[in-house]
Amino acid sequence: MSSHPLFFLYRRLPVWLQARACWLYGYNFARKTYDQQFFEKLEWLLESERWSAGEIEAYQNEKLENLIREAYENVQYYREVMDSLKLRPSDIKNIGDLPKLPTLKKENIRKNQEKFISKKTDRRNLMFRHTSGTTGTGLHFYVNRETNTLQYAVWWRHRNRFGMKNDSWHVNFRGNLFVPIDQNVPPYWRWITPLREVHINMQHITPSKIKYIIDFLNERYFEFYTAFPSIVHILAVTAMENGLSLKTPPRVIFTGAENVLGFQRRCLEKFTGAIIADQYGFSEACANASQCEQGVYHEDFELGIMECVESESQPDGGVWGKIVCTGLQGCDFPFIRYEIRDMAIWEDPHANCSCGRHSKVIRRIEGREDDYVVTPEGQRTMRFDYIFKDVENCLESQIVQKEPGSITIFMVKSGAYAEKDEKFIRNEIKKWISPTLDVEFVYVPEIEREPNGKFRAVKSSLYPADVGSALRVDS
Ligand SMILES: [Zn+2]
Repeated sequence: MSSHPLFFLYRRLPVWLQARACWLYGYNFARKTYDQQFFEKLEWLLESERWSAGEIEAYQNEKLENLIREAYENVQYYREVMDSLKLRPSDIKNIGDLPKLPTLKKENIRKNQEKFISKKTDRRNLMFRHTSGTTGTGLHFYVNRETNTLQYAVWWRHRNRFGMKNDSWHVNFRGNLFVPIDQNVPPYWRWITPLREVHINMQHITPSKIKYIIDFLNERYFEFYTAFPSIVHILAVTAMENGLSLKTPPRVIFTGAENVLGFQRRCLEKFTGAIIADQYGFSEACANASQCEQGVYHEDFELGIMECVESESQPDGGVWGKIVCTGLQGCDFPFIRYEIRDMAIWEDPHANCSCGRHSKVIRRIEGREDDYVVTPEGQRTMRFDYIFKDVENCLESQIVQKEPGSITIFMVKSGAYAEKDEKFIRNEIKKWISPTLDVEFVYVPEIEREPNGKFRAVKSSLYPADVGSALRVDS
């Protein structure tokens, strides 16, 4: 919303007019998104998630075959790629054939955007989307209306698994500036009534305003929260530090957009007692994965295929690798073998989840492929949260690697943080990550977010040449 052309006007309006604008925004959003087609798709998804492994495979292969044929016949980019490799649609009949095609990089789309639009497309059916990108240039692309509807239906199916319906009242904790940043009197929230939603943006979750926010949350019952985990974590920590608690906590917190780190999960469970249910999705809408009641990620196979490439077997079973996605809905702007640039660990394909669903099971989404630290010993490490799990007085931390052999830990201290905490972290890193890695601490009042509002726990600016032969990802 803060990037909307009318935003500069919105932030100058009095609060009561902002409230009207929010209502209108919600009304339009609901009308466009939650139409009859949405409810039909949701109903279908609630059935299809109970399909057998054979039914899932047959569905994906049929969709894929159709996608490849359409892409070859009507999408210039894929015609050129396949012709150059002397491939015909009949060469790619099922998921096992997909590796015959090269992966698609963001750069390929950036350079050839128009070549991705099918000749048969009615442009009125296309919705423009973009990602703001964490490293500068964003990506512009289209998704068709069917994909947009199915993506929302997949997200609501996830909520449905935990008993939440389309009319459940909820709070959305985000970075979007529904409450302008310079507002210094309550209300620090905005009602989006047509969506049964209240927005609270992170810029106001501060020690001086937290009491107003918690009082508001205690005035009524919101069944669930949706949030970037780093934002709702700040809410919990700031409230607890100020001796505040929730009288009517939500039953579930749905997280997305960032990895939920261990210390965030523990803190949220302590503060709310709620179930934390995560889902992995992105604007390109060519795949999605969401946690089931057992806390396991399932591929939302109806939307797209998630392949594991450049894989490495894990010592405790499962396979680690890059996520490569193929969107199965419609051929208007196809994403075929798209490198989303995140890593994950898949469970053994024969492993069955005790929830009874047969869709592919993913143990963990690891995050961005360049967000790892390389130790002088050559080991790659992505997750540091277990190092911080026993550090009570660290509000947030971010690990930055700019050169091989050393890291900088940016940290926001809280409460009684002392020298002994720093010493403890140094020792833990020596013990678990590397005995020779040079560690520098920088204490900061806050950790800067990326341009897209996301928090990154690990940031690396090493060139691939510096990375050398990385050995494995630590668990
Ligand atoms: Zn499951």
